Amino acid sequence: MSEKTMKFKTEVQQLLDLMIHSLYSNKDIFLRELISNASDALDKARFESLKSPEIAAEWAIRIECDKTHNTVKISDNGIGMTEGEVVENIGTIAKSGTKAFLAAMEKEKTPDSPELIGQFGVGFYSAFMVADKVTLETKRAGSSAPGIRWESTGKEDFVIEECARSSQGTEITMHLKPDMKSYLEEWKIREIVKKYSDFIEYPVKMSVTTKKDGTDVTEDETLNSQKAIWIRNPSEVTEDEYKQFYNYLSHQSANPLCKIHYSAEGTSEFKALLFIPGEAPFDIFFQEQQKKGLHLYIKRVFISDCCEGLLPDYLRFVKGVVDSNDLPLNISREILQDNPQIKKINKSISLRIINELKKILENEREKYISFYKEFGRVVKEGIHIDFANKEKIQELIMYESLNHKPGELITLKEYLTAMPESQKDIYYITGEDRKTLENSPHLELLKSKGYDVLFMTDPVDEWIMQSMNEFDKKKFKPAGKGDIELDEETKKEAEEKTQKAEAEHKKLLELIKEELGDKVKDVRFSKRLTESACCLVSDEFAPGAHMEKIFKAMKQDMPSYKRTLELNPTHPLIDKMQKLFDKEPKSLKLCGYASLLYNQALLMEGSHIPDPLQFSKQITELMSSGI
Ligand code: ADP
Repeated sequence: MSEKTMKFKTEVQQLLDLMIHSLYSNKDIFLRELISNASDALDKARFESLKSPEIAAEWAIRIECDKTHNTVKISDNGIGMTEGEVVENIGTIAKSGTKAFLAAMEKEKTPDSPELIGQFGVGFYSAFMVADKVTLETKRAGSSAPGIRWESTGKEDFVIEECARSSQGTEITMHLKPDMKSYLEEWKIREIVKKYSDFIEYPVKMSVTTKKDGTDVTEDETLNSQKAIWIRNPSEVTEDEYKQFYNYLSHQSANPLCKIHYSAEGTSEFKALLFIPGEAPFDIFFQEQQKKGLHLYIKRVFISDCCEGLLPDYLRFVKGVVDSNDLPLNISREILQDNPQIKKINKSISLRIINELKKILENEREKYISFYKEFGRVVKEGIHIDFANKEKIQELIMYESLNHKPGELITLKEYLTAMPESQKDIYYITGEDRKTLENSPHLELLKSKGYDVLFMTDPVDEWIMQSMNEFDKKKFKPAGKGDIELDEETKKEAEEKTQKAEAEHKKLLELIKEELGDKVKDVRFSKRLTESACCLVSDEFAPGAHMEKIFKAMKQDMPSYKRTLELNPTHPLIDKMQKLFDKEPKSLKLCGYASLLYNQALLMEGSHIPDPLQFSKQITELMSSGI
């Protein structure tokens, strides 16, 4: 293969520019990122060596500082990369979330925002914070293909060619920028490794020259303690060590919301060190990122960081390590998911996480709310998925509501506590935003009784409500669907009103029904309206208008369910229409009014009207005749 020059992908280029011109003060993290990559490469090789023993080696990471050439080298004898992998991983394919990260940087306007850089985890590219040229040499373990050399100054393109490297693994050489010479100092490297990478399982070695009896002696020194942090007794681990480990796992520089560190004994023996993050990374909603989960070790051998089944999906934001004593080392990654031990671990850690969140909600509400704003949408999915813990998850969810200020969140328990004695059910309404819901005609009767109504504005709410039948023996009732039945007294009163209206306006109702035809399922007098003239109501178990909109937005087909137009029996408009009907039963004006009522109901709930042109024509005519 001859030398090839290739261009970086645009997003990678933008990221590199950011690194090259970075004023980000904490440049030390470049070492953490590269050591982390080396450790991952060793994990992969060690795992592969279970099947292919010929690639087994004395696993190690080496750092070499060369003051003559102004370079720092980091090397590992891990899995290495093929040519294709180099091109893909380091150059052309941008990580998921890169776009979102760059857009956020752009918005910040400060050329460097430590919080943002910390949140994103720039990985390999962080080398360009300290180097003006980076050379990478690599050879894939177990492959007969020649080694590959990659080099770049981080500007526009990189060069890739074959090289003479004969040993497996990767070596990265950073040609330091003139003002970055401090990274050539042994003490500096020692300090950084100790601080950020002490818990890395593999030895991080550096050759150190010391004077012994007047002569220079060069020896290998291992810079890290290699103590896997999760193996240690929690009482011996400092908060700072936990934080550094979390930063290493999450590529974030923030503090975690909390940690859970325990040993399970009995039917399943394992150690777990879990972190609940305080803030979501940029790529939380990207598929690729979602596949990565807890790091699974078996007797301290790394097995996988995407072991499905280890953690339920709705807790996918949790970072951490699980180290099992019971699983066989030679287990294939594919069948892990169905292993009974994995199921036991899943059950145990899910419960721990849920209990920890509950504790935070009870004792540190502000902290919980900031967590909930980031991950609440994900936690909610649990109600639909995890039947065993459904009640407990229900205790963790929060909503805005009619009787509370915008932005204020309440729990279901708090809703129940505030419920007047006469109220039987928990009322909720789903829709796009608080403003539309607040003004929804569906809430008029509930408002008049002072009842609170939960506002559900997340697209997932509609889906989750299919599994939320009750909480603490109280049923959930959608305010915009089916019948509204409050206490006996209100029910009786409403029934009298509707029956009276039905008797008085029987023929008028028939005319409206006929006029609207198959646009609606039925037209009837309403028990829920006290002010507005009309609204559209779905059957209790049919999907509502909001659900239909979500499906449409996702370009998914959904059968269209017809809804019922409800009319307010006490609205003056009804009497006026009746008078016109008595005078002129086939009045064209009345027919127009029927369609105006229907369109109005659609507009009030935020839906599109089928024929806006016709609608505005009718309104204009109405206005002219009124003047
Ligand atoms: P991340 O580590 O978050 O995936 P990086 O930009 O740091 O992102 O690295 C991109 C990819 O390059 C890694 O996922 C890995 O596949 C590959 N890589 C980086 N360093 C090494 C290494 N020392 N050995 C083998 N592969 C590596």
